Amino acid sequence: MRHKAGVATAIKLQRIMDGVMNRYIYHLRRIVTQVTPILIKYAEERLKSRLKKAARKKPVFRVSKVRYNDVLKRVMRKTVKSITKMAVDSGIDIAAKDVLGPKQYETINRKFEIESRKLVKEIGDELSGNLSKSLLGKVRRTLKTGTQEGMSFGDIIKQVHKDLGYYRNYELERLARTESVRAINKASQWVYRRADNVVGKMWVTDADPCTEICLPLKNKVIDKNKRFYPGGFTYPPAHPNCRCSIAPVYGVPKIKESEKK
Ligand SMILES: [Zn+2]
Repeated sequence: MRHKAGVATAIKLQRIMDGVMNRYIYHLRRIVTQVTPILIKYAEERLKSRLKKAARKKPVFRVSKVRYNDVLKRVMRKTVKSITKMAVDSGIDIAAKDVLGPKQYETINRKFEIESRKLVKEIGDELSGNLSKSLLGKVRRTLKTGTQEGMSFGDIIKQVHKDLGYYRNYELERLARTESVRAINKASQWVYRRADNVVGKMWVTDADPCTEICLPLKNKVIDKNKRFYPGGFTYPPAHPNCRCSIAPVYGVPKIKESEKK
């Protein structure tokens, strides 16, 4: 089947994703740095009270969700959402400028603000939720295994430090990459869905594709409203650290799944 795909748009978006990812990383690091002393202090309090009972029974650690969420709300939500807003806005803007005629751009432009806020809330909530859940889980596991293995108070706290330092390095980069890909592709999908001249979308991989999962999807063209395979993804990311994006496919009225020719 013949089609004209806006791969240039997808490549432009991939470049933007890199910039967004770097900002995400920078801000997520700041967030974790701010949260770390609070978590460590909290771990200390839990340890002190639980260690007293440890001789009698196995200690169970439940870090209070309410209190933890209060802390996170203060330092995390706002920052995560402001970065996500930037990602979604630039994604919608580039996708719209590239694919829409001036008249339709004007119409859709008015819906930007509302839709952008909705997408930001969705992505921002999910990201801050995931990050807080995994940070909290890490601290909780260290407290539990540390006590069970008879580690000293000081060693357990040292381990908590180490765990949280790990987040500042590898883990945050993975989160930032995955979420910037999600924000921008979600924004593109939103535009393609509303663009009269776009009928399909193409899965575009990075120059260095995420082989295992994304290679079979490379250059696959489908209807713009469909998933890339049954029960599968409407747009990237297909997995953590995914660097793929979607390109608009113009003009042909009805596109069935077609092979790359
Ligand atoms: Zn991928």
